[in-house]
Amino acid sequence: MLSGFCAGATDLQFRVCDVNTSDNPTGLIGQLEGVEGLEVEVGAPLSGYSTFRIGGPAEFLIRAHNRQALAALLSATERLGLPFVLLGLGSNVLFPDEGLPGVVARLVGDFVSHRFHGTRVTAGGGLALAKLARLAAEKGFEGLEALAGFPSTVGGAVRMNAGSYGVEIKDVLVETTILEQDGRTRRLTARELQPSYRRTILRGSGGIVISATFQLREGSAEKALGRIEELNRRRWQSLPSGRPHVGSIFRNPEGDYAGRLIEACDLKGASRGGAQISPRHANVIVNNGKATAQNVLELMLTARRAVRQRFGLELEPEVELMGAVRKRWQEALDQEPEHPG
Ligand SMILES: Cc1cc2nc3c(=O)[nH]c(=O)nc-3n(C[C@H](O)[C@H](O)[C@H](O)COP(=O)(O)OP(=O)(O)OC[C@H]3O[C@@H](n4cnc5c(N)ncnc54)[C@H](O)[C@@H]3O)c2cc1C
Repeated sequence: MLSGFCAGATDLQFRVCDVNTSDNPTGLIGQLEGVEGLEVEVGAPLSGYSTFRIGGPAEFLIRAHNRQALAALLSATERLGLPFVLLGLGSNVLFPDEGLPGVVARLVGDFVSHRFHGTRVTAGGGLALAKLARLAAEKGFEGLEALAGFPSTVGGAVRMNAGSYGVEIKDVLVETTILEQDGRTRRLTARELQPSYRRTILRGSGGIVISATFQLREGSAEKALGRIEELNRRRWQSLPSGRPHVGSIFRNPEGDYAGRLIEACDLKGASRGGAQISPRHANVIVNNGKATAQNVLELMLTARRAVRQRFGLELEPEVELMGAVRKRWQEALDQEPEHPG
């Protein structure tokens, strides 16, 4: 039974946050008893796990330390029919104000390790990509510098083929190991992921990136570290600083930029509650302190409608809308007239 914080529990560790929840309402904890390598928090505020700093409580926030524990967790949630979300650094998600039912899982322990072998490095899916890039640079390996400037786990970046400054993760990825929902693992080469602009076949598949191997080049530590510094400086000049956000809110339509289109609609600086379209970069929404997911959603809909009216283009979210936010976004779209104008 769930009751307070049981520090020192040998297998499953619990912490119940200050929320109004009934004891073990879904039977999940019973199903997980005896599984080593899981830490469970009930009702943890998701705002602490998103770079947007927005989001209500997770019914269960669970840290998995190793593959067996993660597989056991997947199988238990499947058996109970609970929603399951794998979370990286939360730099591309918008959580609902009312929180998420079911399990939000994070990769820790074995999943944040790395190993160099020759000119390759294999890293766990939960490791921060920026940390990996820096470790490689310090060893005199080049290849990851352009991917060091944004908050991401290895897994989150592989899943969406993240990229910056002309380099996408597919350019350096050799292969990745995926844990499927049925507990089986499979290896996919970069090519088999069918990567395109911020997409791979993993989006929407439910497969979890548990590790990835990257091909590096022998080079100079000084040069690689210098390039990381230089690109980071450039990045912070163009992005809003000091306010929480998730980077680009919309995907760039082919041949254009979402930011340019939104700016052309005079929406730079527009706000709803605590959320604002950044006066610095129109494809970024910032949280000015008390923004709710609803505020962000309304601004996104405003920007989408304006661009649709003016340019006849349908902006698509880059940020992943989770749970009830995705539902509300879809409902709003369903109510729009079929053709702009
Ligand atoms: C300041 C800032 C700058 C940014 N700049 C860039 C940029 O230049 N280029 C760019 O591409 N993006 C950029 N982003 C967006 C974001 O950093 C990337 O999309 C990043 O790859 C998301 O990784 P994450 O680990 O934070 O994933 P999360 O935001 O935690 O999750 C995003 C999605 O990936 C899934 N996911 C996470 N980990 C795994 C895993 N191990 N296996 C399977 N699915 C997983 C989640 O379920 C969720 O659906 C920026 C964001 C910020 C805040």
